[in-house]
Amino acid sequence: MTSPSSATARDRLIVLLGTPGAGKGTQAKRLAERYGIPHLSTGDMLREARAKGSELGKKVATIMDSGHLVSDDIVSALIDERLGDGSTARGAVFDGYPRTATQADSLSGMLARHGRKIDRAILVDVPDAEVERRIVGRRICKSCQTPYHIEFKPPKVAGVCDLDQGELIQRPDDSVEKVRTRLGAYHAERMVEYYDAKGILTRVDGLGAFDQVFSRLVAAVDA
Ligand code: AMP
Repeated sequence: MTSPSSATARDRLIVLLGTPGAGKGTQAKRLAERYGIPHLSTGDMLREARAKGSELGKKVATIMDSGHLVSDDIVSALIDERLGDGSTARGAVFDGYPRTATQADSLSGMLARHGRKIDRAILVDVPDAEVERRIVGRRICKSCQTPYHIEFKPPKVAGVCDLDQGELIQRPDDSVEKVRTRLGAYHAERMVEYYDAKGILTRVDGLGAFDQVFSRLVAAVDA
């Protein structure tokens, strides 16, 4: 593996795509570190605005809690600000943005004003059935919050925490119905199709160990 400094010569503007539960967010952070470029997650920016209690944060709170998308103008303005502040001079990893064709067109337009364009959209490809298996099997100890998974990290005794014998529960967001709704919303965004039609989509197998998937992503970025 090469060092971050030797990997920053090119302008790398990368859109990372993938379903919830595909590991996209963690991989995006690590890619950003690897190339020494910012990780631009509109979800993180909006959560930060909420935590600060800013006007924007108050405006988006209800929409975010409902699981719907906030307006294209709001998220594109957040990205525009970052593109104008110099931090993305050597590239950026976009995560959770764009999510609609309007946002994707805005992004191209904003970049074009700086004489730049998206290099690659990379899909962390995990089949929906596997995403369901990963998310629906999650359990958490009701008292100490230790995470488990019924298949990948089972407790010694089913339903009971190894550490404090607390009850293991499933978070409401991890129910099969909720996961299917989130997967449906993701597919309806059609960003994979959008970038495929532009001829800049690379599909990376998202199955396997984290490091294995990361190596495949690096190979896709460097290709
Ligand atoms: P995420 O962490 O990416 O799942 O984002 C959390 C929430 O923030 C989403 O459910 C949306 O309400 C909002 N959000 C994040 N990114 C976008 C985006 N690109 N377009 C619209 N809403 C977004």
